Amino acid sequence: MSDTILETQGLTKEFRGFLAVQGVNLTIRRGTIHGLIGPNGAGKTTCFNLLTKFLIPTRGKITYDGRDITNMKPAEVARLGLVRSFQISAVFPHLTVLENVRVALQRARGSSFDFWRSDSVLKQFDGRARELLADVGLTEYAELQAGSLPYGRKRALEIATTLALEPTMMLLDEPTAGMTHEDVDRIVTLIKRVSKGRTVLLVEHNLKVVEGLCDNITVLARGEVLAEGDYMAVSRNPDVQAAYLGT
Ligand code: ADP
Repeated sequence: MSDTILETQGLTKEFRGFLAVQGVNLTIRRGTIHGLIGPNGAGKTTCFNLLTKFLIPTRGKITYDGRDITNMKPAEVARLGLVRSFQISAVFPHLTVLENVRVALQRARGSSFDFWRSDSVLKQFDGRARELLADVGLTEYAELQAGSLPYGRKRALEIATTLALEPTMMLLDEPTAGMTHEDVDRIVTLIKRVSKGRTVLLVEHNLKVVEGLCDNITVLARGEVLAEGDYMAVSRNPDVQAAYLGT
């Protein structure tokens, strides 16, 4: 098995003549937490959407686990184990927390949005759903309506529904955005835990989170790779300080 799980070569996205991402070569090692950071407008979200196939690159190639996935659809790459976190907007507010995870499991296993299944199948999904809720620290919220969860707990639910797809590699888009300090600490611990045996790509603004979690970091600026390395290396890089930290 190759040490590299995801690789891009010359990844480029043009929006009506504007190069949002240009010539990006990324190499993400299996089993690591890789951070993608950079100032606003650097191209992080565009890159994230290219990797999860929500955008089609203008040029370049994406290889996942030895396969060329450049022209694959999101559902196809998800079946290969490359899964993006669902945004909170994908949480069904009127269903309970448990039902949300159960729906994610049903979808992951190819069944439709269908609650009228046999009791034994439902029990089986419920068992796994409760395990996933325990993994993300939401056991005590299982029967609550998802819409009434505090914000930080909703993000944990989002991670549980992502885990339902049994990802080999998870892509998390700003999992701590808008959180209180306490919630940030909790989600950092959670990401550490769920990253065991997986690869994680994290787009993140909060540098403390990046420092605490990431083995490797790629810094983007104006659509290009500005620097790569561990937190110490990139945070000391004068180009990064100028572009990212505004010094
Ligand atoms: P980041 O996530 O690092 O803040 P983005 O990837 O959102 O950066 O954006 C990179 C650049 O591409 C920005 O200048 C943004 O305005 C531009 N951009 C992003 N999406 C589009 C789009 N759909 N159409 C036109 N320009 C876009």
